[in-house]
Amino acid sequence: MEEIKTDLLIIGAGPGGLAAALYARRAGLGFEIVDKQMPGGQIINTESVENYPGIKKLPGFELSQKLVEHCRDFGIEAREYFSIDLIEQVSKKSKDNGHRFKCSGEGGTVFANSLIIATGASPSRLNVEGEKGLIGKGISFCATCDGALFRDKEVAVIGGGDTAVEEALFLSNLVKKTYLIHRRDELRACDMLQCRAKENSKIEFLWSSIVEKFIGKERLEAVLVRNKKEDKTYTLKVDGAFIYVGLNPNSQLAGDLARVDKKGFIITGPTMETSASGIFAVGDVRNTPLRQVVTAVSDGAIAAMHADKFLGDLV
Ligand code: NAP
Repeated sequence: MEEIKTDLLIIGAGPGGLAAALYARRAGLGFEIVDKQMPGGQIINTESVENYPGIKKLPGFELSQKLVEHCRDFGIEAREYFSIDLIEQVSKKSKDNGHRFKCSGEGGTVFANSLIIATGASPSRLNVEGEKGLIGKGISFCATCDGALFRDKEVAVIGGGDTAVEEALFLSNLVKKTYLIHRRDELRACDMLQCRAKENSKIEFLWSSIVEKFIGKERLEAVLVRNKKEDKTYTLKVDGAFIYVGLNPNSQLAGDLARVDKKGFIITGPTMETSASGIFAVGDVRNTPLRQVVTAVSDGAIAAMHADKFLGDLV
């Protein structure tokens, strides 16, 4: 098992982590950046990013690779498939008294004096009957990955936020019909996405509706939908269902060290520092009011600059 000693460890190589790495390099910090997967983050699976200033429209994968290449130009190479599963505070003293944090996982052990947690978030589940057994058998959380499996078929998209509407629009290019099932009669998604979806003849909205059950033996065959306003329950035949009902923070790592909010998002101040001195959190994993690529990279820049200050103040 590899053992690494560094000043700063950045955990997660999505937009937030990669931006932190760029700023850390420019500040001359000694650091490592690791990711349990390939670098790039969640946007790898986003069909198109249209709200990153200066880049009008680009597939998410290409934007993520631009970030990775930009880092490479600065000699930054993320250690991929290097997972960190446990952070322990081993010292509260100065640099000379040993490293403050011991981070261990499948990749090895990293001793560092400061950490930037950029581990993002994962899609939430609905937690209704039939869901667990049919994931990967008709139920998916990624239209970009699995949409092609449902070409010319009928699918349901569950949720009313930006992700649900964006993915319903993506699916409409492939499938015969998309039912967008939302628990209220008003979408949460931004106006531009709402307008596009409402103009799309392949998307049918099922308002004030919830999925109570996923039905199918070998594969998904239908969903049991309840219209809350009419108090009517019916079976809707679909070949696929895409669930976009929010995000769960990948914050387990912060463990008992840093405070989290009710939903588990890591609480940070304006410098991105958490309640644990020397531990910063950026992007989707923190309790941010806006989860976008642009806010994640901004968080990363701020965290790296303040990690630099934190490390400089250690005597
Ligand atoms: P979100 O904004 O939290 O929306 C989740 C949606 O799921 C909401 O419409 C919510 O309904 C619904 N929902 C939650 N729990 C549910 C349940 N148990 N049963 C049924 N419906 C449920 O999540 P998101 O769309 O994944 O977006 C996450 C973040 O990423 C947001 O900050 C979003 O702006 C950002 N994002 C941005 C873009 C972009 O800028 N292009 C793209 C994707 C995501 P209610 O509306 O009733 O609460």
